[in-house]
Amino acid sequence: MTTTILELPSFDRDDPEWELAACRGDAHPDRWFPDPSEPFEYAAGVCGRCPILAECGAFAAATLQSGVWGGREFRRGRVVRGSAARA
Ligand code: SF4
Repeated sequence: MTTTILELPSFDRDDPEWELAACRGDAHPDRWFPDPSEPFEYAAGVCGRCPILAECGAFAAATLQSGVWGGREFRRGRVVRGSAARA
């Protein structure tokens, strides 16, 4: 089971930009993978002060991730919650 974004198999741990991730070491990593009925504001708030927010969202879209990335919630690379969500 995935417990943090940094443990995802597709995550490039060698990229130094990810060292800046605001979610690193967060005490509530499961908040980045909410059930559809659960709020995602906690994770989105941490993302909101992350210096690599844009890169993170682009990574999620390009690699078809699910969960909260770049302040938005994705499902298989598609935004389902957040400012760019579309029906
Ligand atoms: S934008 Fe959010 S999910 Fe992405 S690295 Fe930053 S804090 Fe983590």
